[in-house]
Amino acid sequence: MNKLPILYRRKEECCGCTACCAICPKEAILMVADEEGFEYPQIDENKCVRCYQCIKVCPIKSNL
Ligand code: SF4
Ligand code: SF4
Repeated sequence: MNKLPILYRRKEECCGCTACCAICPKEAILMVADEEGFEYPQIDENKCVRCYQCIKVCPIKSNL
């Protein structure tokens, strides 16, 4: 199986828009609040089929 996609390494790479979460066909992405209450996506590796739609839809990654 391909590698699990990396949605962000640093928090600056994610604005919490939830687009990745919305597009995931497997509902493998959950938005999880950090200690300050900002939600960041977390991938369930057991549900993820490595289709990378989440990476393609991300407004930050598609601008890189
Ligand atoms: S790679 Fe596909 S299945 Fe995995 S989290 Fe992203 S959109 Fe969902
Ligand atoms: S699509 Fe990109 S910016 Fe939006 S929540 Fe997902 S990782 Fe963060």
